[in-house]
Amino acid sequence: MDKKGKLIVISGFSGAGKGTVVKKLVEEYGYSLSVSATTREPRKGEVDGKDYYFKTVDEFRNLIDYNGFIEWAQYVDNYYGTPRKFVEQEMEAGRDVILEIEVQGAMNVKRQYPDALLIFVTAPSAQALRERLIGRGTEPQEVIDKRMKRAKEEAEDIKEYEYIAINDDLDECVHTVHSIILGRQCLRENNLSFIENMKEELNSN
Ligand code: 5GP
Repeated sequence: MDKKGKLIVISGFSGAGKGTVVKKLVEEYGYSLSVSATTREPRKGEVDGKDYYFKTVDEFRNLIDYNGFIEWAQYVDNYYGTPRKFVEQEMEAGRDVILEIEVQGAMNVKRQYPDALLIFVTAPSAQALRERLIGRGTEPQEVIDKRMKRAKEEAEDIKEYEYIAINDDLDECVHTVHSIILGRQCLRENNLSFIENMKEELNSN
């Protein structure tokens, strides 16, 4: 395998369950996960430094000014960004890093890292999406409506993603996303130095 780690971008409609999918990928397969910064208020049970780095708007803007993010975006009234340092360190150490980010951020990452792998996680239907958002019970109706409206816009950008994973059954979806990542690692073009080494070894025998 070639040395440097790569970025795996996982996006999906709010309520598609991508957070749970990502959590399971980390637990079951040991992927490295970037913790984002946000100006959103913590939800019940969310822990600073684990779920997000919770920042004030001023702190967030400061980080933007100091080039602290590889990407950042505004999503339904709040800022979200991917801290640069952790991601660069992990890639340098040869580890793939998962970024769970929304569509604008994903497009931004793709521009900077053309070999990033983009996967879009979706619920099986719009109805299922709304039901999950309501069932989660973490957002007031007004926010749910905004997120459903945003989902309509995001659907237009699915064409930019290389893979789609439908989250009907959680374990199946986690397995699908893991398989997509493994498949990408096995692409010939991602193993050029391995092939060269193999050839050299064969020639010196
Ligand atoms: P939530 O408020 O539900 O945790 O996240 C809202 C949206 O922001 C989700 O689509 C999530 O993937 C996205 N998001 C989380 N962190 C980042 C980030 O660092 N950058 C960008 N662009 N989006 C993010």
